[in-house]
Amino acid sequence: MTKLARKTVQALTPYQSARRLGGCGDIWLNANESPFANDYSISCNRLNRYSSCQPEALLQAYADYAGVKKEQVLTSRGADEGIELLIRTFCEPNKDSILYCPPTYGMYGISAETFDIGNKIVPLTADWQLDLNAIEANLDTVKVVFVCSPNNPTGNLIDRTDIERLLAMTANRAIVVMDEAYIDFCPEASTVDLLADYPNLVILRTLSKAFALAGLRCGFTLASPEIIELLLKVIAPYPVPIPVADIALQALSPGGLARTKFQVLDLSANRAYLQAGLGMLEGVKVYDGYGNYLLVEFQDADRLFQALWESGIILRRSPVPNCIRISVGNRDECEKTLAFIREQL
Ligand code: PMP
Repeated sequence: MTKLARKTVQALTPYQSARRLGGCGDIWLNANESPFANDYSISCNRLNRYSSCQPEALLQAYADYAGVKKEQVLTSRGADEGIELLIRTFCEPNKDSILYCPPTYGMYGISAETFDIGNKIVPLTADWQLDLNAIEANLDTVKVVFVCSPNNPTGNLIDRTDIERLLAMTANRAIVVMDEAYIDFCPEASTVDLLADYPNLVILRTLSKAFALAGLRCGFTLASPEIIELLLKVIAPYPVPIPVADIALQALSPGGLARTKFQVLDLSANRAYLQAGLGMLEGVKVYDGYGNYLLVEFQDADRLFQALWESGIILRRSPVPNCIRISVGNRDECEKTLAFIREQL
């Protein structure tokens, strides 16, 4: 059967989560999840009917939250489905490419590969900003450029002037996708206000991070009504199940939004605690982070990562040399992680 699959698919490996790799921890700070398990009630008495393809109330609630019009919002199975849809909508297989700038989120490249779309890779500069000259030199065949801010895994924000230059440079040639999965931790850095000026701008959002709903699988794409119409031609019907839409609406209600704001403040304090504590240790470098995670450089990251793993503290080994990405957990998780690392060094 394997031989029947497309050649590209045969060469891929399935996504490996830390849980699948056999991690058995008490403290999970590996996937930038929220430590807050909020309660929701769902009514499951209408499930004989399909959900709405794009639940109007949910689109309106997210539009109000983001400051755009309902016609500028598409909801999907997490931001990951948004990535896939954008690639499938704008790139011709075996002809066009996407462009992205590592170190960054891995799904752009993986999604493109699964559809036989080329990957143009233009690394970020030494201070993790866009290398606009190199991007410009690599734009032929590129239909979609992915930029992540706050960037995962480095945690920094991408310079707004550079984003505007990139949008101008790619006008009428390519779509620029700003992945704002972590923007609720620093809402002032959003590029949502640029949607009015740049028709080639698309923004990805999610309820998986600050809204503490990673298990819900609900994300949003913000763009011009014209782009949203295109995406609606490609998305499979009924992407958001009825219970998912119900819960998402509760999270976006005034009470839900207030709770998220409070939890964001709480996590920001924990991030500051971790950053200060780790920063005091010799041979440790902590990079400034604007999301719910910190990238930290150690002298022997491999050994430390393994020791933490074996003691049940599951973090994320980063592709950045000697770096480990630590998600910000609750205060107890941060204290235990910091204490263990202090002991190990
Ligand atoms: N973009 C970035 C930068 C992410 O880190 C993640 C989740 N790890 C996603 C998108 C995907 O989010 P979702 O859970 O909504 O699919």
